[in-house]
Amino acid sequence: MKTIESLGDLQGKRVLVRSDFNVPLKDGVITDDGRIRAALPTLKKLLDGGAKVIIMAHLGRPKGQVMPEFTLAPAAKRLEELIGAKVTLAADVTGPDAQAKAEALGDGEILILENVRFDPRETSKDDAERGELAAEMAKLADCFVSDGFGVVHRKQTSVYDIAKLLPSAAGLLVVKEIESLRKATDNPERPYTVVLGGSKVSDKLGVIANLLGKADTLLIGGGMAFTFLAALGHGVGKSLLEEDQIETVKGYLEKAKQNGVDLVLPVDVVVAPEFKADSPATVVAADAIPEDQMGLDIGPKSGALFAEKIAESKTVVWNGPMGVFEFDAFAGGTKAVAKALQDGQAFSVVGGGDSAAAVRLLGFDESKFSHISTGGGASLELLEGKVLPGIEVLED
Ligand code: ADP
Ligand code: MG
Repeated sequence: MKTIESLGDLQGKRVLVRSDFNVPLKDGVITDDGRIRAALPTLKKLLDGGAKVIIMAHLGRPKGQVMPEFTLAPAAKRLEELIGAKVTLAADVTGPDAQAKAEALGDGEILILENVRFDPRETSKDDAERGELAAEMAKLADCFVSDGFGVVHRKQTSVYDIAKLLPSAAGLLVVKEIESLRKATDNPERPYTVVLGGSKVSDKLGVIANLLGKADTLLIGGGMAFTFLAALGHGVGKSLLEEDQIETVKGYLEKAKQNGVDLVLPVDVVVAPEFKADSPATVVAADAIPEDQMGLDIGPKSGALFAEKIAESKTVVWNGPMGVFEFDAFAGGTKAVAKALQDGQAFSVVGGGDSAAAVRLLGFDESKFSHISTGGGASLELLEGKVLPGIEVLED
């Protein structure tokens, strides 16, 4: 992968940077600024090198239309507070305002183009449409730095096509993400344990299939655990269940056995009658979930079992919370896994947007983890062993 150094002297040059500012908002206020913070090292490096920085980013899914609720204004404001440099926001993506503001930009200043997904060509499946937008973007700058790890698995204009038009390089975040995820997946120090959770098993089928040939231990929690329990013939009450995946999951259980992978399911579950923060919670055995209850977290015995497996590992990759951690009563399993990772000696990588948010929201010290990925889909695709278009295009 080409790095920023390959772009040469940046003094006075306009550098277009793809960042990931897709932060969660509540009533216009950013509730987790982790992604903006993760973008800072590259932006600072470019500013220190004397560059004029033009950022491209998206927020939400405006589907190619200008939707004021998806403006990057909150991100621009937060970035200015964090970076201590002048930050302006263009009113359009590559239109007259963006052109004028890019032209007027001073050394050491930052311009953010408005939400790239306001332009339908950004995510178009048509190469020519994306190419046309890429040409407009390229006119704004001298070179391109790809640092939005959360979108490198997308063949989109601001990620892929632009890199073909300008001298391009990977930013510090993308380099760190790729190095960490490759270290944890290509040649992991063993025992190698993968902890999988989150809501649906169907989101992570490719990952499970790939890991069954690689990991020594697979710990399964979260909503997906119930499809596994059902595949073993247990009743799961009102828990999240994907019936159409039961056969596939049976295949995984079989393959785990064949490959000698220690596939560990919860032995107990925290259940409640309703999906609600204050729904009365009780702990039951994983093979005795009452019909009128739903499993919303792994139980304390499972948490201790998972923690034990993690403590014995040299490499751990974690994707997906163990329960509905957003509600206090169902955050115990996720806390147990996070604590085991924090206290253990393993090289530890957390992937998945919600898992990373959980680590921060539950008050864990991020520096105790080897790497917390900023990209959900991108880290999943790396775990699946896929080639990512936004990375491939940056290879030497
Ligand atoms: P990530 O973003 O880390 O990959 P996912 O998006 O797959 O994770 O899943 C995160 C969501 O899964 C969380 O919002 C959490 O509430 C939900 N979840 C976890 N366990 C359960 C469960 N037992 N039932 C329903 N939802 C669950
Ligand atoms: Mg998620």
